[in-house]
Amino acid sequence: MSFKELQLCPGILTAIEESGYKQPTPIQQQAIPAILSGTDLRASAQTGTGKTAAFVLPALHLLQTPSKLPGSGPRILILVPTRELAMQVAAETVKYSKHLQRSKTVCIYGGVPYPVQNRELSRPYEILVATPGRLLDFISQGRIRLSRIQLLILDEADRMLDMGFIEPVEEIAAATPATRQTLMFSATLKGSVLNLSKRLLKNPMEINIEPAIETHDHIEQRLHYVDNIDHKHNLLEHLLTDPTMNQVIIFTATKHLADDVAEKLRDIGHNAAALHGDMNQRQRTRTIKRLRTGDIRVLVATDVAARGIDILTVSHVINFDLPMCAEDYVHRIGRTGRAGAKGVATSFASHKDMSVLKQIERFTKQRLNPHVIPGLEPKGKASSGRPSSSRPPQRSQWKPRYNRYKV
Ligand code: ADP
Ligand code: MG
Repeated sequence: MSFKELQLCPGILTAIEESGYKQPTPIQQQAIPAILSGTDLRASAQTGTGKTAAFVLPALHLLQTPSKLPGSGPRILILVPTRELAMQVAAETVKYSKHLQRSKTVCIYGGVPYPVQNRELSRPYEILVATPGRLLDFISQGRIRLSRIQLLILDEADRMLDMGFIEPVEEIAAATPATRQTLMFSATLKGSVLNLSKRLLKNPMEINIEPAIETHDHIEQRLHYVDNIDHKHNLLEHLLTDPTMNQVIIFTATKHLADDVAEKLRDIGHNAAALHGDMNQRQRTRTIKRLRTGDIRVLVATDVAARGIDILTVSHVINFDLPMCAEDYVHRIGRTGRAGAKGVATSFASHKDMSVLKQIERFTKQRLNPHVIPGLEPKGKASSGRPSSSRPPQRSQWKPRYNRYKV
């Protein structure tokens, strides 16, 4: 199927062509006609499958027809969980609307002073990309009115709920017209996401793009059993000598450890920087920019800060600590191998990590291949690898506890 067959307006097709996209991804093939038909939609597809364009392109198309609602104010609202994602989604709306009129985007998020955003909001705009907290601030100050919203989009709804945004999201939805069209995109559509969708969506169509069995087959996934944190540091140092490692994102469980690892790496001469939720917005933006321009080779990050990073030159991901849940694992490794490029994702696991490791393998339907580096073999409990497989996996052993670490 080609983008032309999706009947998007010519200006959008030109921008797609300029982006170098040859054909719509599966989620785009299914979601775009559905959205254009006006139906509510909840959709899930794994990370890196082009969900952003799946909702941005039809949203831009809809904007080309004048609004039936009087007054001024945004017509499209895209809610996202984090500032980085807000900036990334806004960058895409700007990119795809380059040749269109009446499609100006404003992007608002917390952690930056109000005056700059106030200025942007004072000019006419049609598309609002926002994180929930800051949007509610602006609504209560009377700076933003949502009475003209015709399309409400929730991106990464699962993450939004994990981050405790359920009430803000409902409050925001309540401030939009009941006649709106609502779309919900998520890596998964289970539990509380499903419940929220039942409250916000009307007779939604559902699209689930099942991950292929060979999930991320362009990303090679490796595993190193480790004894302790010193062992992790030694392995890490060794891995960073790999000449094929163009740029790498290293994930740690805590902000403190991210700083610590970045500092240790700088001490031994690596071009490394940390990225986490304790840094202010300016620092975070600057750090991501430095990664994008190749100014830094090694980024040490926590989960929240790393969401949404889409940099083609990131060749490797290293899980210095395994994530708390399998979904996060898939998000993390998806930071490499963007847009079909090859990538390598390496995870460190100690004997304490066996249950989450099982969870990840069950979720990705893939077994991670243990690798050993001569001289850096595990010696302790982890050296025997996983516990005997005679015992069936025990689901109850492991529960996702997203808030255990403040990232
Ligand atoms: P998701 O939100 O599903 O994780 P993104 O929307 O961030 O994925 O898209 C992942 C990458 O794929 C981005 O670099 C994007 O520019 C690229 N992309 C999106 N649609 C296409 C397409 N049809 N063809 C090629 N690349 C695409
Ligand atoms: Mg996305």
